[in-house]
Amino acid sequence: MAKRRKSVVPVHNEMHRSHRVGWLRAAVLGANDGIVSTSSLLIGVAAADSDRSAVLLAGVAGLIAGALSMAAGEYVSVHSQADTEKADLELEKKHLEQEPEFELFELTQIYIERGLDEELAKEVADQLMEHDALAAHARDELGITETTSAQPLQAAFFSAVSFSLGAALPLSTVWLAPHESVIRFTAASSLVFLVVLGAVAAHAGGANMLRGSARVLFWGSIAMAATAVVGKLFGVAVG
Ligand SMILES: [Zn+2]
Repeated sequence: MAKRRKSVVPVHNEMHRSHRVGWLRAAVLGANDGIVSTSSLLIGVAAADSDRSAVLLAGVAGLIAGALSMAAGEYVSVHSQADTEKADLELEKKHLEQEPEFELFELTQIYIERGLDEELAKEVADQLMEHDALAAHARDELGITETTSAQPLQAAFFSAVSFSLGAALPLSTVWLAPHESVIRFTAASSLVFLVVLGAVAAHAGGANMLRGSARVLFWGSIAMAATAVVGKLFGVAVG
């Protein structure tokens, strides 16, 4: 018996990464947004020949505005997802009470579609529904598990913090760099931050590091180049 149990352990110790991709993705997206939008903003303002304090002030305002807007956006989107899940579960609960036969048939069909033969599918559906009917339907029909259950406040706080951390990188570059070459410093350091972040995210998610970095490098460069051009043109126009 002991031997048998042991042979099961390695299967469960396998590294599954997809379950932690959720919060990782949110953190990386937040930091990524913070770097790209703040460095673009800083470069745009600097390209319009602003002095150092004006560039810094714009950057700080951008950090606060961005963090708040990320938090609000995330809160609303996660909250509405949670509402939808809750409504779905309520509806499913009602169906289970009113039409248990149909619900058993429905779950059986789902398992047949996934590859079980009819007899086994019915037996699995039967036993799972006896154990916890709502959990079985939530998981296999609606795709709702405990780990996907959305947490709005946590998500809002998390994305605001990761955006701020990302934004602090180009902002501190502007703080430290000599003002006459602030655009070059900000652009170069932000691209380095983006590449490192992309590689770390890809590595943690078990994806190709090079591809992850190349993608953020490409889009980050385009964003910065675009705002530099706009800042320059606008600086000439209003200056
Ligand atoms: Zn159902």
